[in-house]
Amino acid sequence: MRYILLFGGNKGNVVETFAEAERQLADFARITRKSSLYRSEAWGFESDDLFYNQVVEIESDAEPLAMLEALQQIERSLGRTSKSVGGHYTSRTIDIDILFCDSKIIESERLTIPHPMLHKRRFTLLPLCEYWSEYVHPKLQKTVLQLLCECDDKGFVEKCS
Ligand code: AMP
Repeated sequence: MRYILLFGGNKGNVVETFAEAERQLADFARITRKSSLYRSEAWGFESDDLFYNQVVEIESDAEPLAMLEALQQIERSLGRTSKSVGGHYTSRTIDIDILFCDSKIIESERLTIPHPMLHKRRFTLLPLCEYWSEYVHPKLQKTVLQLLCECDDKGFVEKCS
């Protein structure tokens, strides 16, 4: 299966954390493509530390739930505690979201694929557009490029040189 993941983080040495996450991913998946690194302002909460984001495409035989668990294990090993405190977003070392898995649509208690916020966030759509602009969102039936054009989010997102 082809998975498209989004790495995000704004705490500690994020570039090194992403590199270590890739090393761990390579134990059970083949990394087939990566976007550039992007910087973006915190979304949903105030923070002085800009976020880094990167899209990573992998091939793996792991089923989606097993993949989610493996990714959460990587997050924990890299110092991720929890996403939210009292329901609010906070700074974090690394967050790994599953954006797409082939053309699957999954809506279960633990897992929603495509990721439910994908089309609402510029920090996801802009890096996705680097290589996957023609990828069709299986539920919305629109390409990633169309979703970016229609996205209302005006948050700061910049490709790192
Ligand atoms: P997060 O803190 O962003 O890693 O996500 C918290 C929860 O979102 C996890 O407990 C997952 O079960 C759930 N979740 C649902 N859909 C997804 C997805 N597509 N990718 C990652 N996490 C997901």
